[in-house]
Amino acid sequence: MTHPQITHLGAVQCVTGSCHLIETVSNISIIVDCGISQGDDPSIPFTRFPVPPAEIDYLFLTHAHIDHIGRVPDLIDAGFDGEIICTHATKALFIPMLHDALSFTGRDKGAIARMEETIDDLSGGFELHETFSLKRGIKFKLGNAGHILGSCFIRFLFPALEKSELPCTVIFSGDLGCTDTPILPDPDRPESCDLLILESTYGDRIHSSRKDRVASLKQLLDRALADNGIVYIPAFSLGRTQELIYELNRMGTKVPVFVDSSLGLKITKIYSELEEFWDSDAKKLKEKGDHPLDFKTLYSVERYGGHKRLLDIKSPAIIIAGSGMCTGGRILDHLEHGLDDPKNDIFFVGYQAKGTLGRRIIEKRVPVKAGVYSLSGYSAHADQKGLVDWVKSMPEPPEEIRLVYGEDDARRALAGVLSSVCRGVIVS
Ligand SMILES: [Zn+2]
Repeated sequence: MTHPQITHLGAVQCVTGSCHLIETVSNISIIVDCGISQGDDPSIPFTRFPVPPAEIDYLFLTHAHIDHIGRVPDLIDAGFDGEIICTHATKALFIPMLHDALSFTGRDKGAIARMEETIDDLSGGFELHETFSLKRGIKFKLGNAGHILGSCFIRFLFPALEKSELPCTVIFSGDLGCTDTPILPDPDRPESCDLLILESTYGDRIHSSRKDRVASLKQLLDRALADNGIVYIPAFSLGRTQELIYELNRMGTKVPVFVDSSLGLKITKIYSELEEFWDSDAKKLKEKGDHPLDFKTLYSVERYGGHKRLLDIKSPAIIIAGSGMCTGGRILDHLEHGLDDPKNDIFFVGYQAKGTLGRRIIEKRVPVKAGVYSLSGYSAHADQKGLVDWVKSMPEPPEEIRLVYGEDDARRALAGVLSSVCRGVIVS
């Protein structure tokens, strides 16, 4: 079997900055994801890429989170002009996501518009579950990863060069979601493959069930709001914000809920329009006239003036704002205003990478008088059981599994459990 060479250029021993390079014997270069690193996670300059960006043939995007797409404009600036391949929903989501990121790079409006046009020209949305051909007989198929709307895993088939050889199949899991996630269908069952590149963010944890985590969110909210305080929820604009809106709607939340994020609101609008990709529960709610992403006490804070006014709010409220790891964005102003007040609370509902303010608050390395809670069950990533079950659901176990996107403890713990499924688990 002729294995292509795979180099992990980011998010190997950490969670953010996803980027993997595939070099085939037939001289085709493919990049899977090109994301920004957050916190202390490293980022390799393009000049140190084994293949110059101008010589890369294809760029696959597993989903539209910024730690998987954030360096795409820079890759284009560095000479990449190949094809960008993703699902239809990712195509709808990733240009608005990049627009927001580009507005912080010092590029003027004209340069941003030109870059968006280039990205739009280079990229195409592809159907899930269909086989498509690339150059030199390489084929690929996308499966639903259930992580955020549009997220996919990719199965490549690299043809044999000699008659005596077998073709080689490789799956990149991307970020793999949990089952029973609001709005999203469960991850697809993967076909078999020779090599699996598997995420391991929560490789050492077991999440609580959706029922339990909704119950604990409700209980914590009731307690936190009883003293008329404010609950701050830092959330990724894409995925987590919509999931929270959905759950707060189902809970029948009576206090005002502010989504203080122009990007979060834009993405929520796109989520609402991409109804064909929702799960059956969300579709049924809409049919009954209850829009899953809207409710009476939900308020949008789009403009900066509204955000400024919201900082002085006195009544009990829930404020959802980015960024999800408190590395920037409007949440910083809220924290500055509200963390010194013991009536207030901050709820972390997503992974907080090393070196981020979110992680420092959780580890009590920042003086805070407000209550701090971590609801780890609210993850868009599968837990250890979810990851192992997903691998076990393959018709045949892979010959080799390489673990990426995880800190050391998570990768080691997952490798230990996976060794009963596959003999070749590699913890890089
Ligand atoms: Zn993600």
